[in-house]
Amino acid sequence: MSNPTAFTPITVAHGDGIGPEIMQATLDVLQAAGARLDIETIEIGQSVYARGFSAGIAPDAWESLRRTRVFLKAPITTPQGGGFKSLNVTIRKSLGLFANVRPTTAYAPFVATRHPNMDVVIVRENEEDLYAGIEHRQTDQVFQCLKLVSRPGCERIVRYAFEYARANGRRKVSCFTKDNIMKLTDGLFHEVFDEIGLEYPELEKDHWIVDIGAARLADAPETFDVIVTPNLYGDILSDIAAEIAGSVGLAGSANVGQNVAMFEAIHGSAPTLAGLDAANPSGLMLAGVMMLNHIGQPQAAERVHNAWLATLEAGVHTADVFQSGQSAQKVGTQAFAQSVIERLGCKPQRLAPVSYGAAKPFALPAPKPRPPAHKQTVGVDLFVQFDGAPDALAQKLSSIQNGPLSLKMITNRGVKVWPDGLPETFCTDHWRCRFMNGGGPVTLSDIVGLSARAADAGVDFIKTEHLCTFDGVPGFSLGQGQ
Ligand code: NAD
Repeated sequence: MSNPTAFTPITVAHGDGIGPEIMQATLDVLQAAGARLDIETIEIGQSVYARGFSAGIAPDAWESLRRTRVFLKAPITTPQGGGFKSLNVTIRKSLGLFANVRPTTAYAPFVATRHPNMDVVIVRENEEDLYAGIEHRQTDQVFQCLKLVSRPGCERIVRYAFEYARANGRRKVSCFTKDNIMKLTDGLFHEVFDEIGLEYPELEKDHWIVDIGAARLADAPETFDVIVTPNLYGDILSDIAAEIAGSVGLAGSANVGQNVAMFEAIHGSAPTLAGLDAANPSGLMLAGVMMLNHIGQPQAAERVHNAWLATLEAGVHTADVFQSGQSAQKVGTQAFAQSVIERLGCKPQRLAPVSYGAAKPFALPAPKPRPPAHKQTVGVDLFVQFDGAPDALAQKLSSIQNGPLSLKMITNRGVKVWPDGLPETFCTDHWRCRFMNGGGPVTLSDIVGLSARAADAGVDFIKTEHLCTFDGVPGFSLGQGQ
């Protein structure tokens, strides 16, 4: 059993820009609330990039994160120009922080918003999708970014969202994807949502195509509760959600993995406010509340959160949320923190107080093992750089199909242009040329042979993508749309 008086080791980074000011304000409040923290401080950001570490973090800092497994992080300034990696993406992927949890709540009338009843939590997949960062310039005209989505990745995030909803007394989980277009990748996410949702009969579920779902979120956010979504959509939607709730300065977030968790404000280092004692420390404070709940100190979390709500309600506001006529006092970063400290032990009177005493951390059940599908290769897409008309390319390729593989189709940016293309279709220099064996099996040697003949014939191919069926179901888009 955990010792209720023990101090929990955490790693803290003060960051860049407004980072040091909002971190000091946050730590002052957490400690005054009785949080039992044993703090290890690491350096991240500009000074570390300047020392030649391309991801903005030094090797000894990783040691601290591995040791404490809990990271309270202030924002950093990402250097401009090439050669630098995003620190956040590096930390999320290196430490397996697969779930990005971003609650956004309206605090009307104390913070101006058109959506006074908004209370949405976005659970964003944090490691996959276009953020794999695998990009290529393939031809003179065309660049590619690979969108990678895995079944274990989907299962983990979707289950996390349902478990989060259950543990936090939420009523509904909504899934946002674009599976009408990306039928395999986003289709998998949606399919897993439907599958795992069956295990949570007490929760409402719905699915939205992300474009209309986003419009609905911006217009009527109070109709949503918990939203689970792939990485890129979640990135965009969570900033919109925070902004329409009142201010990006008010939202905290948790990046949660199996072993490590990182807590931060959702905003950046706001360099123009740095050193002015003007930034709102609320986002990082609320991230601190999430951290206290994560490390099993819910009483301290509750004291901080309720005192913070009482401060907001008293009209003690930083400049970003100050409204003349509504706010009582415009304060700087440190004075805001002092106002929260003065209210520790108080509860808000008009805003709903929070209660974390009974909250229980949840563990994700291990994914159920699945037997691997029977995979059969049935063809290959040869991607080619070519300047000319589709018929001329088909003519050129006819000379290389003297094995089991024959040319079935050519597409340009996903639109079929051969056979029977339309003359109006705009074509780039990047062509996908599909070779199949009439649906029958194809060997890797067949594909190597085709590639060798293409090279001999001077076909400038830039990649091959094997076409496989899994338990008889095509694992590739049919790509015949016009
Ligand atoms: P930003 O979030 O720093 O600022 C955007 C706007 O919001 C600014 O007008 C700013 O004044 C305001 N703002 C942000 N936080 C505020 C706060 N706490 N109180 C009051 N107003 C606040 O975004 P940006 O200007 O696009 O980025 C600045 C730097 O931060 C960039 O280098 C960017 O790469 C970096 N960044 C870091 C993180 C992170 O470390 N997690 C996240 C986003 C951006």
